[in-house]
Amino acid sequence: MTAIAYIGLGSNLSDPIAQVNNALQALETLHDSKLLNASALYRSAPMGPQDQNDYINAVAELSTSLAPIDLLDALQAIENEQGRVRIGERWGPRTLDLDILLYNNKIIEHPRLTVPHYGMKERSFVLIPLAEIAPELVLPDNTPLSDLVANLAKDDIERIT
Ligand code: ATP
Ligand code: MG
Ligand code: MG
Repeated sequence: MTAIAYIGLGSNLSDPIAQVNNALQALETLHDSKLLNASALYRSAPMGPQDQNDYINAVAELSTSLAPIDLLDALQAIENEQGRVRIGERWGPRTLDLDILLYNNKIIEHPRLTVPHYGMKERSFVLIPLAEIAPELVLPDNTPLSDLVANLAKDDIERIT
């Protein structure tokens, strides 16, 4: 069984463009998975604490035979390899964040994993790169992605590649 998963990438420390490109390379070689597509890179203003650098974001599309929790483990291993240190501050600076946005049409409520990602419907740095690679996507609650994008403030994000 293979699933289609969308992964949100973000970084604002230690050369964020290189961090996101490295993470895309890591996804390219991820076991039991195939990288099908990746968005351009985007620059976005930080969420939460404002005394931190802008973020570089992208979204990737994977086909994978990993179960959702195994995919989360694999993504957290990539975060750790790229030097992510969890210092406790929510939405604080990080070398790399890899979030599972969607996993097929599944709704997952697990102590370690909520899918669809709880914040994706409000986040321009997720929705805009996602719409670039999957403009026809419909979320598990039947909301068309294009409706979410149409209602979004887009002044806090720019495409950079
Ligand atoms: P946010 O979740 O608001 O984007 P964040 O990505 O910075 O914040 P993290 O520190 O990366 O948060 O992750 C905190 C925990 O969130 C992880 O340990 C993981 O178990 C959990 N989590 C829940 N749902 C997801 C998901 N869809 N993708 C990735 N992690 C998730
Ligand atoms: Mg996140
Ligand atoms: Mg995360």
